[in-house]
Amino acid sequence: MDINFKGKRALVTGAGKGIGRSTAKMLVECGAEVIALSRTQADLHSLKEEAPTIQTVCIDLSDIEAAVKKVNSLGDIDLLVNNAGIALLDPFEEIKMGDFDKIFSVNVKAPLFIAQAVSKRMIAKGSGGAIVNVSSQASMIALKDHTLYCSTKAAMDMFTKTMALELGPYKIRVNAVNPTVVMTDMGRIGWSDPAKAKPMLDTIPLGRFAEVEDVVHAILYLLSDKAGMVNGTMLPIDGGRLVQ
Ligand code: NDP
Repeated sequence: MDINFKGKRALVTGAGKGIGRSTAKMLVECGAEVIALSRTQADLHSLKEEAPTIQTVCIDLSDIEAAVKKVNSLGDIDLLVNNAGIALLDPFEEIKMGDFDKIFSVNVKAPLFIAQAVSKRMIAKGSGGAIVNVSSQASMIALKDHTLYCSTKAAMDMFTKTMALELGPYKIRVNAVNPTVVMTDMGRIGWSDPAKAKPMLDTIPLGRFAEVEDVVHAILYLLSDKAGMVNGTMLPIDGGRLVQ
């Protein structure tokens, strides 16, 4: 499948590491003009060394008002990947109120209001666009110690659908990808202990966790015209985990 984003401007959040970093680089390879947003300057420096055409923006999405202001200053965006996210894991009895606010601010509030800012400009420009929200299998299944994380991703799935409903008439498609475990820095937080990883692996029919590329390929497909009639979907990248 030949995907070409020549002439398109793409914004990727959480592009310093993991899935976001690889997405930003692959978008460049496919011809897009890419803006990589993340919160650790050193990651953005090294990304720019690897892909010099990338424009970088160092900002913490927890400060959503400052982040929206910054995004508004970037000009028109055709493709948005709402990828930045955090995982705070605790048994239900030990969940802290401060953690609730922290994770909902990065995983729910930020992608919603970044998408609002970007889509307003897409609507004004009138040439449509595509948005991919990076959700998780955790939006659809209960995972031990994951109450807050699962809840944020379930919220993301639902605003993916409401955005698809309301933005579709403007030719803006909104979809989500829902990966199983990927061994990035985040993946290692929850799954590097073999005692936890084995039971999860045993529930995945393909018998392995996802690679970063598995997720990036799905994101690129959903951003592209090849997915021109795909809107409001949650695409599991889970080796079949969710069939059971
Ligand atoms: P990583 O932790 O490897 O990378 C996340 C990136 O997002 C980092 O560059 C991080 O920056 C950035 N980021 C986090 N918080 C903020 C913030 N407040 N402002 C700006 N940037 C921020 O995670 P993954 O690549 O694994 O995860 C990417 C997405 O995929 C997340 O939404 C995650 O929930 C989802 N996902 C991940 C899975 C996994 O197993 N890894 C499975 C399913 C979904 P910094 O390091 O500087 O904080």
